Amino acid sequence: MSFDFIKTQLQQCKDDGLYRQSKITQNKQGRYINIAGKRYLNFSSNDYLGLASDPAMISAWQVGAEKYGVGSGGSYLVTGYNQAHDELCEQLKSWLGVEAVALFSSGYSANQAVIKLLLDKNALLLQDKLNHASLMEAGSLSDCKMLRFKHNDINHLSTLLQKQQNTDSLIISEGVFSMDGDSAPINALVKQSQAHNSWLMIDDAHGLGVLGKNGQGSVVECGLSNRAPQIYMATFGKALGVGGAFVAGEQAFIDYINNFSKPYIYTTGLPPAMAHTITCAAKMAETDQWRRDKLFELIALFKQLAAQKGIVLGKSHTAIQPLIIGDSKKALRLAETLQSLGFWVTAIRPPTVPKNTARLRITLTTSHETQDVIQLISAISTILSEY
Ligand SMILES: *Cc1c(COP(=O)(O)O)cnc(C)c1O
Repeated sequence: MSFDFIKTQLQQCKDDGLYRQSKITQNKQGRYINIAGKRYLNFSSNDYLGLASDPAMISAWQVGAEKYGVGSGGSYLVTGYNQAHDELCEQLKSWLGVEAVALFSSGYSANQAVIKLLLDKNALLLQDKLNHASLMEAGSLSDCKMLRFKHNDINHLSTLLQKQQNTDSLIISEGVFSMDGDSAPINALVKQSQAHNSWLMIDDAHGLGVLGKNGQGSVVECGLSNRAPQIYMATFGKALGVGGAFVAGEQAFIDYINNFSKPYIYTTGLPPAMAHTITCAAKMAETDQWRRDKLFELIALFKQLAAQKGIVLGKSHTAIQPLIIGDSKKALRLAETLQSLGFWVTAIRPPTVPKNTARLRITLTTSHETQDVIQLISAISTILSEY
């Protein structure tokens, strides 16, 4: 067997402007990012609240390491469930008002776990077309039937549900869509799930910490409790600035995960020092309202300046502000030009986003300052007028 097919596919990627490569960042996550010896203003980070390298977080990691050690030593059901993990679960329950939680090493595996666990071959999975790849892939790998409804289109969802009576069904939507920054109509999703006796899961990777009272997320932002969807899932690697994820739901569901979910059972528990740090992040996200206030001032400024310059952005009121370009190569060229001017902005291309919707995904964080936003808009405006 040769690897020729791999070489052909990689060459095709390069020809299509879709080839990807990691860049080595040389400093802590924050306002600036250092790459290949050059400093850029960082507009590509999911560290929305500026927690990833906050001194209090670094010290929490050190304290956690001293107290609990760096490795958990095993899976959660053997010896890997430390007091640090339990404190994290308790903090999440009290902050978010959920009944029970299960921790996962990543959002990717949490999503695989839920879909695998709930849906057999007779079941129906309904996903928003723009849901994250981890959800889509879990659906494709499952024996269940998966249908995708048009983005945020409740009528389409309802039509699909009406055609399928008497089967177990699960509706999944992101709370805030990761590449568009817009929000799901969660009230309507809850009503649909009730009307059709379906489960509802919200993946709130980009809403937790940012939206809702005390950063309780997208569901709370909509005036509901985090118990309104049967399953509320979010990650610790975005606004909480660390890594890992959790799934929340009623106690029986979490007990079921503990007993039957392979991605939960057969994996090493998160490092306890890390769990301790995430608890610190969750407390800061809950109480540091100033982080959200500053972030939303910067978002408002960004949108206002863009409008003044005639720059058309997506329909987002969150930290994720997409500038849709269309053509992948053009998006890549624009990103490279911005980089040459000292702004780190990433071009997001298919298959991460639908064909012909390549974009600059600009993210704002609490670490930015007013002048950063003014400079970025001015640079974008100049570049767009040249293309
Ligand atoms: C980032 C992300 C995930 C995956 O989470 P990781 O912890 O990074 O594996 C899942 N869902 C959404 C919507 C995400 O943005």
